[in-house]
Amino acid sequence: MHQKKMPIRDLAGCTINDYEQKLYDQLLPYDWDDIYLSFKEEMLMFQNVVHLIKNTPEDRLPAIGNCEPGQYVPLMKTLERIYDSIKRLEAPAEHPAQPPEEKVPVNVKVKACAQSQGIHLTGFTTLEPSWVFPASDNWTFPQTHQPIGYTNVIALGMEMNPAVFSSNHSPGVETLFEALLTYAKLGEAVEKITGFIRELGYQARGHHPYAGDFLYSAHAVKAGVGQLGANGLVLTQKYGPRQRFAAITTDAPITVTKPRNLGVNDLCYKCMRCVTTCPTGALSPGKVNWRGTVKWKLNHKRCWKYFIANNGCGLCLIVCPWNKEDSWYHRLAATGVTRSGLFRRMILTIDNLFYWRGAATNPRNGTVKPQEGPVSFAAMLEIMGKENQKET
Ligand code: SF4
Ligand code: SF4
Repeated sequence: MHQKKMPIRDLAGCTINDYEQKLYDQLLPYDWDDIYLSFKEEMLMFQNVVHLIKNTPEDRLPAIGNCEPGQYVPLMKTLERIYDSIKRLEAPAEHPAQPPEEKVPVNVKVKACAQSQGIHLTGFTTLEPSWVFPASDNWTFPQTHQPIGYTNVIALGMEMNPAVFSSNHSPGVETLFEALLTYAKLGEAVEKITGFIRELGYQARGHHPYAGDFLYSAHAVKAGVGQLGANGLVLTQKYGPRQRFAAITTDAPITVTKPRNLGVNDLCYKCMRCVTTCPTGALSPGKVNWRGTVKWKLNHKRCWKYFIANNGCGLCLIVCPWNKEDSWYHRLAATGVTRSGLFRRMILTIDNLFYWRGAATNPRNGTVKPQEGPVSFAAMLEIMGKENQKET
């Protein structure tokens, strides 16, 4: 198995000082080697499930666990939409970019285009080679691993629906579906923005949020879009942990946006809500030294097992006090949290009093049972295989 030891090194374009050193240490909470293996298996199952569903009339489709065809068919269709988008992004550009006649202020133009495509967060940075997956790990379907040809990275983030990511919806199919829908919409936006950059006269390659050759969230942190939280997710000022990321690599002359300290580190140590809520104990209450780097560490095996068995999870996102719908209160809190330790303490107290419904949210306390699952591809194959046998 590939062993990747993360060196402590300079952040391109930044002076190393205490904060930036700490910031770098926080990145990469996952054990990616394990993730490659489990995804590979899931992707093969997915192909078989899609084939089965396509070849079965909708009125003859069985319920899978507690999930009716009316729930899982849209889910499968969204996944197909995602894979179609990945394939389009992998195809060579129809009209290769011509050299631009004059240098244009790329950041402003790209940001405006991104906003018009429903992108909520944009950052500009350079590619960090140690965050690129090795070519041997060709695990994403149907994407084929290609060398990254350009060194500039545009980090793109899209908010997920706050109404779905409220405490009443997890774990379950609704959150899984909303996450997939965001992947689909974000991927299609990446296609449009990539085309736009090519029209400006530069080379560009779009990287779909559901696949990809490098770590998007780490680059989003490096581009100052957000900071890594104890739940292993990037927390941004406006949406907290409630967004998905994709990226575009390009030779366009971007102006790099630098990492920012939003106060996430201090807030997380004061809060720990995701750590105590996680039903599997997958999150650690402090940073750990993992392969030579001190950082928040997610135990992927524990998380993934629960995630699959319950049709998704996301409790660590849902309970985060920074995960709130856009309101005057949230905007005030999000600004204050980034500025002062006293404010962070105050916000947590207010959030505990008015929002936190731990007893209703935490499956550990037994009042809320996780949904009976799973809608996993493996379960679908098993159940649909039996149904098909009955028919013949
Ligand atoms: S997704 Fe669920 S199981 Fe995984 S770390 Fe978050 S709370 Fe824990
Ligand atoms: S729930 Fe609390 S500890 Fe976890 S990421 Fe959010 S702020 Fe940090």
